[in-house]
Amino acid sequence: CALLRKRLKHKVENDDTIKRLESLQFEFSIIKAATDNFSDNNKLGQGGFGSVYKGVLPNGRDIAVKRLSECSAQGEEEFKNEILLVAKLQHRNLVSLLGFCSEGTERILVYEFARNGSLDHVIFDATRSAQLNWEMRYKIINGIARGILYLHEDSRLKIIHRDLKANNVLLDEEMNPKISDFGLARLFVLDQTQCITRRVAGTYGYMAPEYASQNRFSAKSDVFSFGVLVLEIVTGKKNSWLSNSNELEHLLSQAWKNWRKRTISNLIDNTLRNGSTSGIIRCIHIGLLCVQENAADRPTMASVVLMLSSHSLSLPEP
Ligand code: ADP
Repeated sequence: CALLRKRLKHKVENDDTIKRLESLQFEFSIIKAATDNFSDNNKLGQGGFGSVYKGVLPNGRDIAVKRLSECSAQGEEEFKNEILLVAKLQHRNLVSLLGFCSEGTERILVYEFARNGSLDHVIFDATRSAQLNWEMRYKIINGIARGILYLHEDSRLKIIHRDLKANNVLLDEEMNPKISDFGLARLFVLDQTQCITRRVAGTYGYMAPEYASQNRFSAKSDVFSFGVLVLEIVTGKKNSWLSNSNELEHLLSQAWKNWRKRTISNLIDNTLRNGSTSGIIRCIHIGLLCVQENAADRPTMASVVLMLSSHSLSLPEP
């Protein structure tokens, strides 16, 4: 009886997915018209697998269109993987897949349009980062954490992103973060807590040590990348700077020393001078907990979310 119920539930879930997939199919002519025939004027950027265009649907909705440049067997696999997985995911901090189309050798993915582009263009750009106050940065950190928690624990699939980085986080018009680029060989359905891969797909600087050196990855490798992201968002400095300057090691002790002095203005991005000191310290602390060498010492995303929302400063002193 339990088996039957399980099978029935599985069937209902599959039927739901099929219905959703059917509703996601776009006509190629609509996408062509929406992007002005993939005109260079509408090009937003070049990704690892093809170009991204801005488009407008006949109903006025803005979209981002990813066009696969060539469809190799692996590209085809990744395209299907993206659609099948993303069709099952819905969260305000994950970029939504609005549809797809496939005609001849063309493979197209249609996403919601994130008006403020990717996070790296905001935090590492002096003019744009100057407008990013502490509340916004905190909102971005918190949103990314919730998006990852959903991938790891709350979606029906247990998913490890494997390539979390500033240019895979998009920002909508209200600066809500949307995690993107999951699905193209980077998503992994978790049936074990730790997996070994033959092909390391990720980005040095954000990659956990066990993943970079031994190809071992788990949800904790995403936690590491999240920690790097947090430190980048708070300091406004790229991970290459953070890891090469020994600054990371000093950051936490400095934070605590300065916390006692109630000033941390030399430590963090200038724009944060008016930010909540305790919030900033908490985020630096969380970032550093996440980038610990040993995966087992890193917190889970559930405890990260809890720590972020906790208003008490009862964090252990390092
Ligand atoms: P990469 O592989 O370098 O991360 P992507 O293929 O994801 O690049 O995207 C290339 C560029 O297109 C990004 O840097 C981003 O600025 C833009 N972009 C991608 N998706 C969207 C979207 N949904 N909304 C707005 N801009 C987007």
